[in-house]
Amino acid sequence: MTLRVGLGYDSHRFVPGRPLVLGGVAIPHDHGLAGHSDADAVAHALTDAILGAAGLGDIGQHFPPADAQWKDADSVGLLRLAHDRARAAGWRLHQADVTVVAEAPRIGPHARAMAARLADATGADPALIAIKGKSNEGMGWIGRGEGIAVLAVATLEAVR
Ligand code: MG
Repeated sequence: MTLRVGLGYDSHRFVPGRPLVLGGVAIPHDHGLAGHSDADAVAHALTDAILGAAGLGDIGQHFPPADAQWKDADSVGLLRLAHDRARAAGWRLHQADVTVVAEAPRIGPHARAMAARLADATGADPALIAIKGKSNEGMGWIGRGEGIAVLAVATLEAVR
């Protein structure tokens, strides 16, 4: 099996008055994330990991923030589009490992639902989409609750 590995990173600032959407799942919280789209940092990090592995650039090139059509966009929909482009280039998502770094909310209770949505968008096996939550032990901007960071690694396999 021919494999490629990609790494994605994203961060967004917490703001009041917006829903919190991560991995396509609405999570009850007193803040949401600022951004041009729905600010789903999990979907964005995974999208960048897939595009990087496929040699297709990054999320900003495919879905420019200056383009009004992506305002408040469903980022799982963008993930689906990006994966379609990777597929057209001869790759598909085999497996992903995602770490969400935030002091709150807790990610674990939502991990399965997030994996199911990400798997649906990419055609991957949901059992091979891992979502993990970590606190930042109270340190720095994440520790102060100013925002969230997400790291994603994606493995793509060549499509015959
Ligand atoms: Mg983003």
